[in-house]
Amino acid sequence: MDLHIDGEQLQRDLEALAQFGRSPSGGWTRTALSVADADARGYVAHRLRTLGLDIRHDEVGNLRARRPGRTPDAPVVMTGSHLDTVPSGGYLDGPLGVVGALCAVEAIARAKLTTQRPIEIVVFVGEEGSRFPRGTIGSAAVAGDLPVDEILALRDADGIGFSEALATYRDTGPPLPARMAPGTLHAFIELHIEQGGVLEAAGVPIGAVTAIAGLVQHAVSFLGDANHAGATPMALRRDALCAAAEWLLGLERAAHEIGPGAVATVGKLVVSPGGKNIIPGRVDAICDLRASDGALLDALDAQVRALLSSTRPGIQVELRPLQRVEPGPMDERIVAAIEHAAEQTGRRSHRMVSGAIHDALHMAHLGPSSMIFVPSLAGKSHCPEEASRSDDLITGTLVLAHTLADLAGA
Ligand SMILES: [Zn+2]
Repeated sequence: MDLHIDGEQLQRDLEALAQFGRSPSGGWTRTALSVADADARGYVAHRLRTLGLDIRHDEVGNLRARRPGRTPDAPVVMTGSHLDTVPSGGYLDGPLGVVGALCAVEAIARAKLTTQRPIEIVVFVGEEGSRFPRGTIGSAAVAGDLPVDEILALRDADGIGFSEALATYRDTGPPLPARMAPGTLHAFIELHIEQGGVLEAAGVPIGAVTAIAGLVQHAVSFLGDANHAGATPMALRRDALCAAAEWLLGLERAAHEIGPGAVATVGKLVVSPGGKNIIPGRVDAICDLRASDGALLDALDAQVRALLSSTRPGIQVELRPLQRVEPGPMDERIVAAIEHAAEQTGRRSHRMVSGAIHDALHMAHLGPSSMIFVPSLAGKSHCPEEASRSDDLITGTLVLAHTLADLAGA
């Protein structure tokens, strides 16, 4: 197959989207259904129209555009990502998968290829969870993992409802049902920056994602006794912070021992009363556990609880589960198609697990899915410094185009 990516167009599209939601404090803040998000989506809609594609939105605000196949009712090959960002985030997390989809489909059209199955570009709404109290909203709706009425009832921190925000966001005719019927998805492929340093360290331009790690988060409280830092002898103390410190170091060791598929983080710790001359009486922590399969996640979760049950005498502990997201194994056939596409373009690829959650996690519940990763410079993401080499962005898009053409039956 003779496919060529217009690298200048790819760059122009990324720069155009980077005009929307620039943060005064640096980076980009484009939360779900905000004016900046609607502007970015408007740009993508304009580009889709220039490709001659039929644009629709669905009940929750996902934007969908289909390039027909020779068999009109054949299960669809879908690709896309999101346009919303975290506060002061980067310009590639999400937009690359949208712009990449546009440029890949453009390359297929330029090569005058017809495909047996339709190819659909999707822009998922609300992936980051920075405005409404959960992420991956659009893909969860498409996969049927989250009922539409629950989504429409979500409220942001200012009390603005999802359905209210959506009313000003939609821009085309009556909405499609969000949920896709089982059996209507032939394949889903999402192009994304890696957001870590694995590919850069390996010197490989393409990651073929074999699984998306699942996640468990718990709120954990350590209850001791606040007292005078000078007058209380060591033997008589009930120091909640010392107990919390033992627990989190134990958790770090446990994650190392479980192996490379598992990671554990305590990123939030509130020490009370928080005085420089007071023994900490209470510590509230949040732990975040991730693993590439359910058994590893269970093992890590069991370690958290075992360490808490053996905390030092005089300290009480409380654990409140916050959320659990099951790991998402990607489809072997799609992973192999990505590897094959990389070979066709003469590029090396590397099988890897995604530590971060993506829309592809939900799409995998609906049908065969995988992701194409490109290297992130210095492994940085969710910050203004997020960047990738231009060549790698073009390579990722080219591999996406080959994978789509292959899976759609060119
Ligand atoms: Zn993303």
